[in-house]
Amino acid sequence: MCLIGEKAKVNVIAPHFGEEPCIQGHNGSGAVFMSGCNMRCIFCQNYDISHQRNGMDLTPEELGQWYLKLQEVGNVHNINIVTPEHVVPQVALSILHAAELGLRVPIIYNTSSYDSLASLELMDGLVDIYLADFKVWKPNTSKRLLKADDYAETAKESIKAMHEQVGDLCFTGDGIAKVGLLVRHLVMPGKEAEGAEIMKFLASEVSTDCFVNIMEQYHPDAHVGKRRKRRRALPAEGEEKSSNLSEDTYEEVRYSDINRSVTSEEISSVREAAMGAGLWRFCDPPKHDGFAI
Ligand code: SF4
Repeated sequence: MCLIGEKAKVNVIAPHFGEEPCIQGHNGSGAVFMSGCNMRCIFCQNYDISHQRNGMDLTPEELGQWYLKLQEVGNVHNINIVTPEHVVPQVALSILHAAELGLRVPIIYNTSSYDSLASLELMDGLVDIYLADFKVWKPNTSKRLLKADDYAETAKESIKAMHEQVGDLCFTGDGIAKVGLLVRHLVMPGKEAEGAEIMKFLASEVSTDCFVNIMEQYHPDAHVGKRRKRRRALPAEGEEKSSNLSEDTYEEVRYSDINRSVTSEEISSVREAAMGAGLWRFCDPPKHDGFAI
């Protein structure tokens, strides 16, 4: 399913400036994008990496050496392992190897939260920061859009386990994330009620001090909005063939209900639900001249 075997396949290793201010800081986050994924989100924005095998095979030792290069040459604030759910044993070994070589910066586990508790147990003590997505709430939505009907159930248990390990997110004196849990929720078109449920869950079952990034940047990608030819239903036996059945194929737009950006009303509604539930630590631009914490 994940397309990966004994060796982790890595697509990109580089300082990355597309993360939250407290993660990327001034010098960037040391991103290590794993190829392959244990999910099949139909809107995946890393489709060419996660749904295909693109990259180089690395041993845990080679991976650990790259973490050191990111620290020493890139001067990054952390090592950010992106989509590690399907290569947890290899990642655990790479972190141990890097620690022996002198890695000092925090390790980030950047996950869809479709993790097993056994995986998270392996990561306990090795990961400093969990950067955890919580995507959708309803089983029929996750079945259709993520191809996993148990997504929310799994994410709930995983995020609780992550919080038990590292607690709420805290920072260094200059505003860089040091240890803890940061939950991301990408607001989806028409799914704001599910976003609200996710916020209520975080406040009531994780912590009202949970640091949350309510993200607005959804755009159609991967399979969403693609056109495909469909065969028309043929008339039943004895039924007269109507004029609109004269062609036996037609074109449909796939996942047309989410083939648009989100509206400001949808974003506000999730934000209000979060505040109503008691959450207060959001990834907002600073209201003063200080750091975005
Ligand atoms: S979990 Fe992330 S990387 Fe994997 S398919 Fe879904 S959106 Fe893509």
